[in-house]
Amino acid sequence: MRLDKFVCKSTELTRADATAMITGGCVSVNHDVILDVATQVHENNHISLNGERLTARPSRYILLHKPADTICSNIDEAYPSLFNYIDVANASELHVAGRLDADTTGLVLVTDDGRWSFNIITPTQHCQKVYRVGLSRPIGDDVAAKFAHGVQLQGEPQLTRPAILDVVSSKEVLLTITEGKFHQVKRMFSAVGNRVVSLHREKIGAIQLDVAVGQWRYLTDDEIHSFT
Ligand code: URA
Repeated sequence: MRLDKFVCKSTELTRADATAMITGGCVSVNHDVILDVATQVHENNHISLNGERLTARPSRYILLHKPADTICSNIDEAYPSLFNYIDVANASELHVAGRLDADTTGLVLVTDDGRWSFNIITPTQHCQKVYRVGLSRPIGDDVAAKFAHGVQLQGEPQLTRPAILDVVSSKEVLLTITEGKFHQVKRMFSAVGNRVVSLHREKIGAIQLDVAVGQWRYLTDDEIHSFT
C-alpha cells in the first residue's frame, strides 16, 4: 500500500497530517528517510515515524443490515450514508464490497482491506449473491429457464451469466447471481417483462445476513477467510 495510507492506518493522523510528516522527513522505510508519499510499502517493512516503529492496525471486516433509503458511499448525498450506522473509529477508511441501490435492503460487507473486497467484487471470481425479490406481476413459468440460459440486458455486449431462480410465491422469488452489473437484478426482471418492487440481499458467498435492520457485527475468521 502507499506510504501515506500506511502511516494513517498505523496512527491517528489524517491523510494531510501524514503527508506533512512524510514530506517533512519524519518517516523512514527500512531506515531510509522517504519523502514520496506514494512510495509502495509492505507491512513487513520497518517503517518508523520520528524513530518509533509503526505497526498497521488490523483490517476490519463488517457485516451490516442496510436499511432502505440509505446509500453505500461514505458521505451523505440524496440519502444518508449507511456508514452512519457503523460507529467505529476511522470509519472514513472503510468501503463497501459490492454496493446496493438506495432502495435495496439487506446484506452489505464493509472493510478497509481493498484486496479482500476485490475478491468479492471482481467479475472473474463469480461470487454468488442471493436476493429476495418482490415483483409487480406473477412470475412466468419460463423465467427460470431464461435466467439459467442468460438474458440480454440493454446496452450489455453479453448475456447475463447463468442464474438460479427459486419461486417462493407468485410474486416473490429468490435469485442467485454470480455477477454484479449496474442494477442487474432490476434489469434482469425488466428483460422478461416484469418489475422489481422490493429487493433484499440475503447472502454473499457463504455469508448469511443474521442481524436486524440497521445493526452490524464483525465477521468471524471463517467468514473472512471464505473470500481469501
Ligand atoms: N441489483 C439491483 O438491481 N440492485 C441492487 O441494489 C443490487 C442488485
